[in-house]
Amino acid sequence: MSGPQRNGPAGITILGSTGSIGTSTLDVVARHPGRFRVVALTANRNEDVLAEQCIRFRPQYAVLADADAAQRLQQRLQRAAPEVTVLAGVDGLLQVAGLDSVEYVMAAIVGAAGLLPSLRAAQAGKRVLLANKEALVMSGALFMQAVREHGATLLPIDSEHNAILQCLPDRYVAGQAAPGVRRILLTASGGPFRNTPLAILPSVTPEQACAHPTWVMGRKISVDSATMMNKGLEVIEASWLFDLAPDRIEVLLHPQSIVHSLVEYLDGSQLAQLGSPDMRIPISHALGWPDRIESGAPGLDLVAVGRLQFETPDHERYPCLALAAGALQAGGTAPAILNAANEVAVQAFLERRIPFTAIARIIAATLDQLPVQDAATLEAVLADDALARDRAAELVAATKVTVAR
Ligand code: NAD
Ligand code: MG
Repeated sequence: MSGPQRNGPAGITILGSTGSIGTSTLDVVARHPGRFRVVALTANRNEDVLAEQCIRFRPQYAVLADADAAQRLQQRLQRAAPEVTVLAGVDGLLQVAGLDSVEYVMAAIVGAAGLLPSLRAAQAGKRVLLANKEALVMSGALFMQAVREHGATLLPIDSEHNAILQCLPDRYVAGQAAPGVRRILLTASGGPFRNTPLAILPSVTPEQACAHPTWVMGRKISVDSATMMNKGLEVIEASWLFDLAPDRIEVLLHPQSIVHSLVEYLDGSQLAQLGSPDMRIPISHALGWPDRIESGAPGLDLVAVGRLQFETPDHERYPCLALAAGALQAGGTAPAILNAANEVAVQAFLERRIPFTAIARIIAATLDQLPVQDAATLEAVLADDALARDRAAELVAATKVTVAR
């Protein structure tokens, strides 16, 4: 990034502004009008929420991936906020991710749909606040190369990775190993089924899976937390962000979600970051970095929390952890295949077409059935993403069990 030559507040694009991370980002940004100016807001097809956000934040651009929804938004804003230019489709997303007037890009689209716009922000040398972990999982080598070559600043929004960044020595640079680090410990709540008898897991519902005990999040990541694929994706994400071999990344169950992750140094010291489970904390950390700014999150009352517990995760309960570790070890397009199969299976579970326990089975079968390619080009990554989606969809269709409504 070329440094602060601007006068006045820094321009920000929020990709996925109507989602859980997007709305939390706007909440923080609104607390700092002298520091940030919203230049662009984007969503998939939720024109109602995007219209409200446009009327409140008056961005220069609003983008909807869905062209019909974009047209309706345009009509709606003609009177209410005529200064907003409405764009549509992936081209619109790419355009606002790389605008000259933008210094910060919050990458908070969920899933593989976020890859191209997140990558575009990196290629444009922005300060990329990365919530869209799937982009890094799919194309880690290409993404980190783009960050390096275009002088982007990559800051993780995932609470665990943001916690690690906070516990690392100063002068963090994404993709570079920090001196003196022995390993990192990623914490995980274990999700809503941590204590559910294994025999019950095939019949749990999407509503139960999305009722996370400590965090309020979008539906896809909520299901990922219940299977712990979320932690599997985060291990892959951490390996790229902090340049760590898989055997230096450990996963710890920590049901209270107060310790957001830890770094262990060569001398045996472990540094942890603690806070309430409120995503405004990592978001404001990355927005303010290296300064500290108000987030709106409540302070942490450790006496009220009382106890902090840590356990080793049970791999029989959480088979997705080993699937993700295997994909990281295999390298190439294996993580992209894993991610694509997971997205298809999670969507099918949310639509009650497969049982919860079929998610891991479908991912495992997709990985077994597809050969892994070199992930040196975006075309290779996207081709295997598409192949894996097709294969996983066939496996979903072949899953006969119906799920209770
Ligand atoms: P969400 O479902 O609440 O929001 C997703 C956003 O992406 C919405 O604005 C939606 O309109 C947009 N979107 C969805 N599909 C799109 C498409 N095809 N094209 C364009 N835009 C599209 O999700 P979320 O919980 O905010 O998560 C967003 C990302 O942040 C995910 O990658 C997730 O893993 C990550 N993350 C979320 C949390 C959290 O607390 N919610 C924590 C850590 C990481
Ligand atoms: Mg996380």
